[in-house]
Amino acid sequence: MSKIILVTGTSTGLGIDIAVQLAEIGHTVYATMRNLDKRGALDAAAKAANVSLNVLKLDVQKRESVSDAVARIIAVEGRIDVLINNAGAGFVRTTEQASEDEINWVMDVNFHGVVRATKAVLPHMRAARSGHIINITSVGGLVGQPFNELYCAAKFAVEGYTEALASYVTPSFGINFTAVEPGGIRTEFANNVMAGVAATGGMLDDEYKPILEKYIGGSSTRQGASDAYQDSHECAAVVTGVVANPNPPVRIRTSAWAEELTSLKTSTDPDGKKLQALVIERFLN
Ligand code: NAP
Repeated sequence: MSKIILVTGTSTGLGIDIAVQLAEIGHTVYATMRNLDKRGALDAAAKAANVSLNVLKLDVQKRESVSDAVARIIAVEGRIDVLINNAGAGFVRTTEQASEDEINWVMDVNFHGVVRATKAVLPHMRAARSGHIINITSVGGLVGQPFNELYCAAKFAVEGYTEALASYVTPSFGINFTAVEPGGIRTEFANNVMAGVAATGGMLDDEYKPILEKYIGGSSTRQGASDAYQDSHECAAVVTGVVANPNPPVRIRTSAWAEELTSLKTSTDPDGKKLQALVIERFLN
């Protein structure tokens, strides 16, 4: 069945592949981005795949921008079947180094943005007694990593948010929730992180510097390694699989590397279904 799908953050990277792959399958895709001047890469990818997309402006950090986009889709289609919260941004600075504004920004774009979009679509999905909200989190939502404590905290928040909604909104209203947990993806993500570091004074000459250099050096090696990073079309294929699944997982990794890194936390309940059932039994029965 063709679904009405809203995807955030489709100006670059994974968002482009998700939007195009879902359109290729025959879904009606609303591909959104905060700056429509950046739609060139998405348009080119859609043209190459011979699909058409509905492109709308949506900034996840602005409540009105989110509600306007959702209202426009509802006005045309009458429903939204799937929301894919893909917009996000990395951040590499220690807690001591990060400014209050930077800390607020990381949480806002990666967590509050997910809540804003979810809050806007939920009434429509609840009325329809169906829907699926897919949150692109990260292995960083399960495993804290050096210099990423603020980004990881935001993604951990998305994980907890997803899990909690899955415990009562799913059984009550038939709306599914899935956290998609990629390892590295070959996109501009890491370069954007380093550009952010450069734009805010570069590597600071403090006690953290040698540890950060070790981390950044290892990061380059990991990016070159074949298994730590996957192509965005491969990661997007996992997302399209989740969209197609009538009984979708609460959580899913997108590569063997991501699976292995997170296995100490996920091996006893890889898809999160056992925990979902336990929480329902303990709190709602
Ligand atoms: P990317 O190429 O940097 O794409 C990030 C997207 O988010 C861009 O379209 C960006 O738009 C958008 N965005 C940022 N702030 C936004 C806002 N306020 N409103 C709307 N859109 C906004 O990185 P990516 O790898 O495709 O990332 C996609 C998702 O995967 C993110 O949630 C990320 O955390 C997650 N992830 C990535 C990796 C990785 O290694 N790449 C690993 C694990 C998880 P602009 O072009 O306007 O900035």
